Amino acid sequence: MRGAVIHAPRDVQFEERPDPELKEPTDAIIRTVATCVCGSDLWFYRGVNPVTDPTPIGHEYVGVVEEVGDDVTTVRPGQFVIGSFFASDNTCPHCRAGYQSSCVHRELMNGCQADLVRVPLADGTLVATPERPADELIPSLLTLSDVMGTGWYAAVAAEVRPGATVAVVGDGAVGLCGVIAAKALGAERVIAMSRHEPRQRLALEFGATDIVTERGADGVRRIRELTGGVGADCVLECVGTNESMQQALRSTRPGGNVGFVGVPHGVDIPGEDLFYSHVGLRGGPAPVRAYLPDLIDRVWTGRMEPGRVFDLTLPLDQVAEAYRAMDERRAIKALLRP
Ligand SMILES: [Zn+2]
Repeated sequence: MRGAVIHAPRDVQFEERPDPELKEPTDAIIRTVATCVCGSDLWFYRGVNPVTDPTPIGHEYVGVVEEVGDDVTTVRPGQFVIGSFFASDNTCPHCRAGYQSSCVHRELMNGCQADLVRVPLADGTLVATPERPADELIPSLLTLSDVMGTGWYAAVAAEVRPGATVAVVGDGAVGLCGVIAAKALGAERVIAMSRHEPRQRLALEFGATDIVTERGADGVRRIRELTGGVGADCVLECVGTNESMQQALRSTRPGGNVGFVGVPHGVDIPGEDLFYSHVGLRGGPAPVRAYLPDLIDRVWTGRMEPGRVFDLTLPLDQVAEAYRAMDERRAIKALLRP
């Protein structure tokens, strides 16, 4: 088979790799139908996270089951499936509490920008769709593997409730999916923080009611102005830089909550500031698996169309161009088809 391998910053190659094989009786092998490049892949591409050896890359996938191990009972060959970027058993205490991304047996998926993918703990990780999806549903189903599930978790972690005023920091695919999630959970007002016109437009189409272009202290001031000096009830932090985190914390009203899903890079939160802010903070890698059944149903029944975050579709063998386009912000998110 063929797949993407990152060799060094800005050096992603599409190359022959050995076909994955069933290693454990709980594994499945899937043939990828669509995969994509994640904002978190760019941390490696840009050299922010080190690349020490050539490494297969990619963790977002949908596909058709080719083969399952002897112990797999919930999915079977031929089914169209979606799984999280963390494999999980879905049975341990953390999974049962809804935190599958902290599963005691979790395994981070990697090498999914490829023709074939080995999925560990297939029963706990994969969810099959009711039948083979129509082609136009595939981009939206693919977002459930990470970005839409992550946006959903950001909104859940920020405790978005009907009537809430929500601010979303970050206009990447996760932030835009956070807008969808906030709206779906009943937010009355959704303030999207974005400087990029195409992303602003998409945020408004997804249900944002206001756009704030300012950042940092100016962004915080603008949120306060828009909320009668109070601050937002819920803030979704979808970037992971220190600036975006400070902006999120300071945009939240006392008693409000920040849901943070941007992988932190250099974030430093002084305990005393947090103490006096009265702001609740919950985040981490999203337990995407917990939301898959509900989100699949929402996509299947046309209640949400997060696949619109993909503004570039390329054949999988052009994966290097997908990285370049996202790195240069020519694309919000690139979808790859084998
Ligand atoms: Zn578990």
